[in-house]
Amino acid sequence: MPAFIPESEANGGMVEVFAVASGKGGTGKTTSTMALGMALASEHDVTVIDADTGMANMLFHAGLADADTTLHDVLAGEAAVEAAVYERFGMSVVPCGTSLSGFQQAEPDRLRTVVATLAAETDVILLDSPAALGSRSAVLPIVLADRIVVVLQPTIPSLSDGLKVQEYATTYGTGVAGVLFNRVTEDEAIDRIATKTEQYFEGETLATVPESDAVRDARRAGEPLLAHAPESAPAAAYRKAAARLAVRDRPVDPVADRFRSAVIPDHS
Ligand code: ADP
Ligand code: MG
Repeated sequence: MPAFIPESEANGGMVEVFAVASGKGGTGKTTSTMALGMALASEHDVTVIDADTGMANMLFHAGLADADTTLHDVLAGEAAVEAAVYERFGMSVVPCGTSLSGFQQAEPDRLRTVVATLAAETDVILLDSPAALGSRSAVLPIVLADRIVVVLQPTIPSLSDGLKVQEYATTYGTGVAGVLFNRVTEDEAIDRIATKTEQYFEGETLATVPESDAVRDARRAGEPLLAHAPESAPAAAYRKAAARLAVRDRPVDPVADRFRSAVIPDHS
C-alpha cells in the first residue's frame, strides 16, 4: 500500500456512532437528530437512521413521507440496506415506516448489520433512538453507539429519565457525549438546572434549545429545522451543540465487528 494513503483509508475509513436518546417520547429526539446531522454534515459524511422503529417519525421531518422502501423493509429482510438510503439535505437519511405491521415484521437484531454496513460508507452515524425506558429492543441503539446524546426537557421527571438512560449507556460501555436541553422557555431558570445536571451527567451541556415556532413550522413543512429556518435561535443552538460533539475517528472494522456481535440485553 503506498505510503501516502493515510491509515484511516487503509483500514476502510473511520466512523463514530451516536445514539440520540431520551427516557420518554416527544422530547425532540428526531428534531435533534436531523439538526445535529445537518450541522455535522458541513464537515463530515453523515448518515441519520430512524432507529425508533415503533414510533418512527423521521420520514415526516425529512420530506420522505412517501418513501417506497424504509428501514422496516430492511429489518423484515425484504430489502437491501442501500434501498432505504435517501440523499437529503446533504445527508444520507434512512427513514423508517410507521405501520404497526411493519414494526411487527421487523427483526430488531438486524439493526446491527444495518449499522455495520452503513458504517463503512460514512463518518458519522446518528441513531434516532426509541424512548429507552420502553422495551428490550429499545436500548439496542444505545448499546450499538459509541456515545449517546441525551435529549432532556428541563424538568425534574425528564432529568431523572435522562439519568436512567445514562445508566443504561454506561452499563453497556457506551459513553455520554452530553446533554441537550430542548424546549426551554425563559422562565425555567435553565442555567441553574444545567449546572445541577452537570453534577450528575458525565457529558457536558451541549446546548439549550429554546421552545420555538420555527421548530414546529419546520416539522409541518417536512423539512429539518436547519433547512427551514437556519437563522433561527434553535438552529444556532443546534450548530453550537454539534460543534461541541468533537467527532472522533474510530476505525470502521472493529466498530463493524462490535455491531455484528452486540448482544441485545435481556432486561425485564
Ligand atoms: P421525539 O422524536 O423525541 O418524539 P420530535 O422531535 O418528533 O420528538 O418532537 C416532538 C414534537 O415537538 C414535534 O411536533 C416537534 O415539532 C415539537 N418540538 C420539538 N422541539 C421543539 C422546540 N424546541 N420548540 C417547539 N416545538 C418543538
Ligand atoms: Mg422521534
